[in-house]
Amino acid sequence: MAIKENVDRIKQIIKETALKVGRNPEEIILLAASKTQPAEKIVQAYQAGIKYFGENRVQEGIKKIEQLKDIKDIHWHLIGGLQTNKAKYAVRYFELIHSLDREALADELDKRAGKIGKVQEVLIEVNVGEEETKYGVKPENLERLFEYSLKKENLKISGLMCIPPYFEDKEKSRPYFVNLRQMRDRLEEIFKVKLPHLSMGMSHDFDVAVEEGATIVRIGTAIFGERSP
Ligand SMILES: *Cc1c(COP(=O)(O)O)cnc(C)c1O
Repeated sequence: MAIKENVDRIKQIIKETALKVGRNPEEIILLAASKTQPAEKIVQAYQAGIKYFGENRVQEGIKKIEQLKDIKDIHWHLIGGLQTNKAKYAVRYFELIHSLDREALADELDKRAGKIGKVQEVLIEVNVGEEETKYGVKPENLERLFEYSLKKENLKISGLMCIPPYFEDKEKSRPYFVNLRQMRDRLEEIFKVKLPHLSMGMSHDFDVAVEEGATIVRIGTAIFGERSP
């Protein structure tokens, strides 16, 4: 079964890479980016040992979460950009939201989480490549958004996330990963908080991300194969 082989290979690379740079492989979460994949494929990945799944769209994710709700030790993350009007559904269904990137969204997530008595765990997404078309807060506005969100009673910020520009050569992702880690270190320093998570690295560059401190790698095609459009 291809998915099982892919998962085993990726886990092996994560392990070897982590050990090479003196990290504990256990602290790295392999999250399957399951957008466009049907529930059956998710079950196959689960049976291959994956416990974390990341969806991009709230509606599509909820449908699969409902289909698979009998599987208990499965963790659902929202990794795609989030529209403010979907925040109320997102807090109901997702354990960790990787894409907080603006104050209005912090307001809404805080309000909606409060209404259901939840403290919503979030990551702040940083637009490290400062690309027009991408989600994420600009690096220059990160500190302000962080400070703003830190005051929200029903939000718990546990780290940062990024999607660097795509390059064939995975080494070109490295400076962006280093940059995200340094931004995290700086926030910890300024605000005297712990930010354990760095969500970075995808199919083509996750080993580089692990070398630079990733604690969550988000992998789609290397697990499931090419996505059909
Ligand atoms: C699709 C997606 C991934 C995984 O991309 P692959 O290149 O298929 O591994 C990771 N993160 C986000 C936010 C995605 O949308």
